[in-house]
Amino acid sequence: MVAYARRVAALAGVVALAAPLDAAAAEPTHAIGLAQAREILFSADKRSVAEERCGTGAEREQIACFVALRFAEDAKAAKLAVDLYERTGTVAGTLPEQDFDGAYRGRLHLVPKLPVGPHRRHLEWAAAALLELDDFFADLQRDAPVNYRWKPLDLRFFESVKRRTPSAWASGWEVAYNVSGSLFGSAAGVRETMFHEVFHLNDFARGQWSQRALADVYGRIVARCGTRIGCLAPYAPDPIIVRGGTYYAFMPDNGVAEYAADLAKRYYVEHRALMRKQKLPGRPFKCLAPENAEAWRRVSQEFFGGVDRVPACEGG
Ligand SMILES: [Zn+2]
Repeated sequence: MVAYARRVAALAGVVALAAPLDAAAAEPTHAIGLAQAREILFSADKRSVAEERCGTGAEREQIACFVALRFAEDAKAAKLAVDLYERTGTVAGTLPEQDFDGAYRGRLHLVPKLPVGPHRRHLEWAAAALLELDDFFADLQRDAPVNYRWKPLDLRFFESVKRRTPSAWASGWEVAYNVSGSLFGSAAGVRETMFHEVFHLNDFARGQWSQRALADVYGRIVARCGTRIGCLAPYAPDPIIVRGGTYYAFMPDNGVAEYAADLAKRYYVEHRALMRKQKLPGRPFKCLAPENAEAWRRVSQEFFGGVDRVPACEGG
């Protein structure tokens, strides 16, 4: 899922302020700074206490101290969150309480939920998924350089009151993660959903590439099948069917951005399996229909260095 508008203004501000004053500074320009880390981790009334406890040392030390302080009630979670920050620059905290327009899901109420105690496994899964992306892209880049960002991220945990949706959403360089999300019952579900969300961020950073590059393919499929599940089956990059609806990639409210994110997720699932010498989860997606082959080629060229390790289709 994706929610674009909210962070755009804030991001524009960050970009404007990020002009390099000190050319010797080795930090990447998109590193999460002190002010943003404080906002991710603490409500306004707790920030001065955090400042007192952690306000000395280099910026990275201060942020690691903030993270440890926020997760102090659960030593194992604190270690996971600090490790994630130190290795990727990603800061895991909470989403502020808010109402959320969930489109076909209706109005939702979201509340902050730190992934500690009974929810710690979500931090374990999310951190493992994000750390593994380093390995995934290192492997992919043995073939060609990839222009893609998967870190650092602003990672926000929340709970959806009396609901299990949305599992996650993305905007700016922020991913929001629902500790009661229906897709988050396993490490694989978390990995694949995180990939889907991070793809949204990259798609949006390129001016919504999917709207320009995949609208024709997507439009042809929808014109042929509408929301009919049987007709859509070969075109669906992911088997998830929304209750009372159709494949997630083809829900009418979702549009081409969700098809694109599920397509990228399928690229990830198939390449991850190949890297691990595991069987693909079915026939290669690109071999199921000519539209799939075209969409697959376009997404791999734009985001994944043109790398396609899936063997050529039989008879094609
Ligand atoms: Zn999505």
